[in-house]
Amino acid sequence: MSTVEILGTAQDAGVPHLGCRCGNCEAAREAPGRTRYASAIRLEDGGRYLFDATPDVRFQLADVPDGAFLTHAHLGHLTGLLYFGRESVDADELPVYATPGLGDVIRENEPLYSLVEDGNVDLRSIDEDSAVPLTETSVTPFRVDHRETLPTGTLAYRIDGPNRSLLYVSDVDSLTERAESLIRDVDVALVDGTFWSRDEIDRVDDVPHPTVRSSMDALADADTEVLFTHLNHTNPLLDPGSDARERLESAGFRVADRGDSIDL
Ligand SMILES: [Zn+2]
Ligand SMILES: [Zn+2]
Ligand SMILES: [Zn+2]
Repeated sequence: MSTVEILGTAQDAGVPHLGCRCGNCEAAREAPGRTRYASAIRLEDGGRYLFDATPDVRFQLADVPDGAFLTHAHLGHLTGLLYFGRESVDADELPVYATPGLGDVIRENEPLYSLVEDGNVDLRSIDEDSAVPLTETSVTPFRVDHRETLPTGTLAYRIDGPNRSLLYVSDVDSLTERAESLIRDVDVALVDGTFWSRDEIDRVDDVPHPTVRSSMDALADADTEVLFTHLNHTNPLLDPGSDARERLESAGFRVADRGDSIDL
C-alpha cells in the first residue's frame, strides 16, 4: 500500500503570517490547532519521499526522507532544503529532484551550494514527462505556468500508485485548460487554493492564483476528489466555521489538513 500524507497546507509564509494581525493570523497565534505549515506532502511507498522543502520542515518530518522532489524556487518550496545541511541533520547524499534550471540555482548560489559541496544532497534533474519509478509508485512531473519571471520553472507532480493516482499542484497562476485536464485525469488532486476570492489582498495581480471559487466552478463536474491546499493567511476557508467552508464542502470539495492521508 502506498500513502500520501499531508504535511502542510498553507501558502509559502504559513499561518500565522509575519507582520499580519488579521483574524486568521491572530486565531493561529492563540490556538496552535489553527496554525498551518507551508504546503508539502510525503509519499510512503516502501521509501519515504518529500514533496516541497518548506521552512517548516523540522516540524513536518522527524526523519530524513529517502528523496525530495522540489516544485520551484519560492520561499515555501525550496528554503527547507537548508535543514538537510551541516547546521542541521547533515544528510548524506539525499536525492533531490529538481528542474535543470533550479538545480543550477542550487549549485551556483550560497547558502544552497554548500549542500552540494558537502555531499548533503545529490541533485537529480527531472523535467516534463520524465517519470521517476519508485518502489510501488511512479512520479511524473509536469510544467505548469507560475510566474514567468521565474526562469527555473514550476512543476506539478503526478503520483501513480498501485490503485489510484494523485496530482499535487501547489502553485499555478491560473487553471489553464492543461492544468484542468491534469486534475481531471487523476483520482485525487491537491490543488492551489491560495485565495478564496480576488478581494482578499490588494496586490492580487502581482501574485496570480486561480481563486477557489473559480476552480469550484471549473471542476464542478469532475470525477476527481479535489482538496485545496496552499491557503493564504487571508483565505476565509481557514476558519472551519466560515460561510466559505460551508459552500466549499456542500459543493463536494474539501480543504486539505495536516495529517490527512490518502491511499494510492
Ligand atoms: Zn507557494
Ligand atoms: Zn493574516
Ligand atoms: Zn510560488
